[in-house]
Amino acid sequence: MKKLFLILCISASLTACQNSEQSSDKTAVDKSSGEISAPAYKLSPEVQKLQEAALAGTHAYDLTESLTTEIGQRLAGSPQEAKAREWAVDKFKAAGLQNVRVETFPVRGWVRGVETAEIIAPYPQNLEVTALGGSSATPEEGVEAEIAYFPTFEDLAAAPEGGLDGKIVFISGRMEKAHDGAGYGPANQKRRSGATEAGKRGAAAVVIRSVGTDSHRFPHTGQMRYQEDVKPIPIGALSAPDADQLDRILARGETVRIKLTLTPKELGPLESGNVIGDIIGTEKPDEIILIGGHLDSWDLGTGAVDDGAGIGISLGTAQLLLENGLKPKRTIRVVAFGSEEVGLVGAFAYAEKHKDELINHVLASESDFGAGKVYALRTTVQGEARDALIEIQKSLQHLGVAMEDGDTSGGPDIIPLRNAGVPAIRLQQDGYDYFDLHHTPDDTFDKIDKDEIAQNVAAWATMVWMASEADVDYRAAPAQTIGE
Ligand SMILES: [Zn+2]
Repeated sequence: MKKLFLILCISASLTACQNSEQSSDKTAVDKSSGEISAPAYKLSPEVQKLQEAALAGTHAYDLTESLTTEIGQRLAGSPQEAKAREWAVDKFKAAGLQNVRVETFPVRGWVRGVETAEIIAPYPQNLEVTALGGSSATPEEGVEAEIAYFPTFEDLAAAPEGGLDGKIVFISGRMEKAHDGAGYGPANQKRRSGATEAGKRGAAAVVIRSVGTDSHRFPHTGQMRYQEDVKPIPIGALSAPDADQLDRILARGETVRIKLTLTPKELGPLESGNVIGDIIGTEKPDEIILIGGHLDSWDLGTGAVDDGAGIGISLGTAQLLLENGLKPKRTIRVVAFGSEEVGLVGAFAYAEKHKDELINHVLASESDFGAGKVYALRTTVQGEARDALIEIQKSLQHLGVAMEDGDTSGGPDIIPLRNAGVPAIRLQQDGYDYFDLHHTPDDTFDKIDKDEIAQNVAAWATMVWMASEADVDYRAAPAQTIGE
C-alpha cells in the first residue's frame, strides 16, 4: 500500500505527497474523479521512469540479500572479503558495467580470538564483551584487576599521568541518538583513543561502554588506534546493559574487580581491494561521477546496514539506469571500497592510485549509513552548479527529500577525494536506529526495509542521472577542505 501510494505520488509529480496522508489541503489524488491533481513540479520523463522502476523494484534489497547471505561477514583482508570482491565483479558485470576491475592494496590483518569478561567482586557475574579492532591481546589466562572508573573519555584525558598502574580502566559515557548520527563523533573518542590515554597512565587494560544507542546485550566493535610511543594495552567494549551494571555497582561506592580475556591476533599484511566499474559517458566520458559503498564489514554480524546496503544502493542505482536504457552523458563510476572499517584504507588507496585523474572526478558520493529513508540532499558544490543540484532536490521533494545547508564529507570513503578537491554530494539518510545495530552481531539482513531501501535507489538514480545530464561545471567554485 505504501509503495502504491508513492508511485501515485511520482506520477503526479507532487511536492506534498509525503505529508498528504496527514494534511487535507494537499491531497495527492482527487477523490471525486480518481484523477491525479496538477503537479507542483514537473519530473522529466527519464526521472519519472527511474523513480517508478526503483520504487516498484527490489534492486538494492536483492543485492544486499545476496551479499549478506552468500558471503556473510567480510572483515578487512579476510578470505571472505576476497570472496566479496569476486561477488562484486560478477554483479558489476551482470549489471552491464564496463571496465570492471579490482585494484588491490595491502591491509594490516587482525583476527578476533577468545573474548570473555566477568565481575569477580563484589557481585560475581559475566559481562558481554568484544575486542575493538586492532586491539592487542591480554595474556591467555586473562588479566584480573581493580577497575579505575571514568564516567567519560574527557575525565580520563584530564586525569594526571600515571596513577593507574595495573588497573583496568572502565570508560562509561552514553551516545546520544540522532537522525543524522551526530552523537557518533563525540562518543567515538573513547573507542579510538581510550587505550592510548589509559596506557599513558599505566593501566593494564581498558573496557568501554559500547559506542551505540541500543540497550541490547550486544557489544559494538570498531577500529581503535595506538599512539606509537605508548604501550599498546588491550581494549574491549561492553554491551550497554553490562556497562549499566558496572555503573550501578560503582555508584554504590564499591571497589570492583573484573577479569578480562581478549586474545586477538595480528596477521601481518594481507590483500584487500576496491572493485570498480563504469558506465562510460556518451558526451563527456572523461568527467567522472563516482558513487559507491564499502564492501568490507565487521565480523560480528553480516554487515547488512554497514555497509551491504550501501553496496546494494550504489550498484542498484547503476543497474537501474542500465536496465532502463538510459545513457548518461558523463561517466558513472561505481566503487565497492575495501577495508573501510579499519581506517578508510581502500579510500586512500583509490585516491593515491587515481591522483592524476582526480581533476576529472566532478562529483563523488557514498552510501554508508544503513538503509533508512533519504530525507535531505547536501553538497559542497557552490555557485551556478549548485542550482543544478537544487533541481535534483526538487525532483525528490515528493519522496521527502529537502535541501540541507552545511558541509558534507560525501561519505567516509569520499573524504580523501573531498580533501583533494573533488566536489561532494550526499543524500542524508535517517539513521536514528543505525547505531542500535552498527558493528554488532545484530547487523543482519532482516533489519533492511524493502520500501525504504527502494526509496534510496529512487533518490540515488535521480541524483546520478540529473547530475550527469546538467550542463554545468561542478568544479567551478572549489569548496574548502574539511578535517573530518
Ligand atoms: Zn560503514
